[in-house]
Amino acid sequence: MFDDLTDLYQQIILDHNKSPRNFRVLPDANRIAQGTNPICGDNYTLYAKIDNDVVKEITFQGSGCAISKASASILTDSLQGKTKAEVKSLFDKVHDMILTGNVDGDLGKLAALAGVHQFPVRVKCAILPWHALMAAVEGTGETVSTETENA
Ligand code: ZN
Repeated sequence: MFDDLTDLYQQIILDHNKSPRNFRVLPDANRIAQGTNPICGDNYTLYAKIDNDVVKEITFQGSGCAISKASASILTDSLQGKTKAEVKSLFDKVHDMILTGNVDGDLGKLAALAGVHQFPVRVKCAILPWHALMAAVEGTGETVSTETENA
């Protein structure tokens, strides 16, 4: 399924799947959100510590396919220290990128997810951790499912 991804993007995704970053429970998290994609079997919990609208720390736990795990790992790696406004802006860019393949500005490692748009069944996998992130940041604390969300 990776045939059309560039080698670099493929390597980033495989690396994050094999050695996910921030893959642990965050004991002093003040925001926790679940994300589930029943079609693929992806199921993650996102833990965030948010102080004065700044993401101090963000971690995740759970299981799923390579794309969802890599997406969650890259997400946690990219968002430490961001403000809620920055997180929201990044969510919009990444959401758009995963759907269209267009990379808006310098998204760094997040650009590795752009190739996912070529695989429609994987789009929900890649976006799932981002929906969970928004639920965590906005403090709704709900379980986010790809089957009720407008992915
Ligand atoms: Zn998946």
